[in-house]
Amino acid sequence: MTNDPALYAHASRILHQEANPYNAKTLVQKHGTQEVWVNPPPIPLTTDEMDWVFDLPYQRRPHPSYGDARIPAYDMIKTSVNIMRGCFGGCTFCSITEHEGRIIQSRSEASVLREIEKIRDQVPGFTGTISDLGGPTANMYMLNCKSPKIQKTCKRLSCVYPSICQHLKTDHSATTQLYKKARAVPGIKRVAIASGLRYDLALKDPEYIEELVTHHVGGYLKIAPEHSEHKTLSKMMKPDISSYDEFKRLFDQFSRKAGKEQYLIPYFIAAHPGCDEEDMLNLSLWIKQKNFQPDQVQTFYPSPMSLATAMYYSERNPLQKVRYKSEKLSVCKELKQRRLQKAFLRVHDEKNWPMLRQALHKLGRSDLIGDSERHLVPAAGQKHGQKPRQGAGKKKKNNRRGK
Ligand code: SF4
Repeated sequence: MTNDPALYAHASRILHQEANPYNAKTLVQKHGTQEVWVNPPPIPLTTDEMDWVFDLPYQRRPHPSYGDARIPAYDMIKTSVNIMRGCFGGCTFCSITEHEGRIIQSRSEASVLREIEKIRDQVPGFTGTISDLGGPTANMYMLNCKSPKIQKTCKRLSCVYPSICQHLKTDHSATTQLYKKARAVPGIKRVAIASGLRYDLALKDPEYIEELVTHHVGGYLKIAPEHSEHKTLSKMMKPDISSYDEFKRLFDQFSRKAGKEQYLIPYFIAAHPGCDEEDMLNLSLWIKQKNFQPDQVQTFYPSPMSLATAMYYSERNPLQKVRYKSEKLSVCKELKQRRLQKAFLRVHDEKNWPMLRQALHKLGRSDLIGDSERHLVPAAGQKHGQKPRQGAGKKKKNNRRGK
């Protein structure tokens, strides 16, 4: 299989189809005279079991062997609370489903509130801010299939793609209540939500968006449309970009209502399998139209077990039945191509202009080279006539990826 990309894509497809612990088959793969045996995923923990795990007497401090050394990872997690495990999003570039499962395992509200009190009472130098109440995806707490019977037979890779499943519970009231109670704990001044948000799902519950926007966004909210073009989004298993616009409308509406000036910071991936230069050009035009100026952007990098990694290696699409004759995916592997795709996200950086001009000529879009507002890059020797564009409206102080 190592030298047969089509079989690799097929194996990846099978592995992901056998990911429901209630109906997954044991998989066996032969390697020479030996066999690799893959057991079905474990049955998810109940809320009581999750609470038992999280209520163990953790010290909440680095091991004493570190002495006084500053540990950046500790700084990041010391005031953050993990409220659940798992993700039913199924984004193909992410391996969280493979690590934690597609079925959400949530802690009880009481267990989460107890941990907030422990942080308040035990973390040295605690300032009153909980840096995150989240998990793999911020807004999947207590959300699951409405029917345990249907869930036991389900083989879908995602509960929210290509559309939100009619059997999925989408009422976010447990999360909204948890946020409200968390910010009312004595000694807590602020509860931030730093975990990534599945915004198409959040749209199902505007009351949740209002709570989030009014009390838990510190001026900037990172969200991850990842792309604007359907062809690429469909390889990522991400929702259509129209749901971004709808979320932004509610985000702006609730920010205004709260009297706050707040901005969305969207993240994008360049060079994802299936994404070609034309899609990157269209994404670049979308970014220009929205007046964003992304600083830190990500170029796709294969990660263990993900479906996108199988696409990258095999140049085939394991979201469909894989055949030797299947149409090949466009996969950007060469450094020069990868740099160009990334450059389309950073057209404000003049170091990228020579390669972008070349690409625009090649794509038959020389009309986008020039010195006015409607052009993407200036002609050689010209200065850009555009006013500096804003990063979501303001200079960003934090443009890291959410997850
Ligand atoms: S039936 Fe729908 S909601 Fe239930 S597990 Fe399957 S995809 Fe998810």
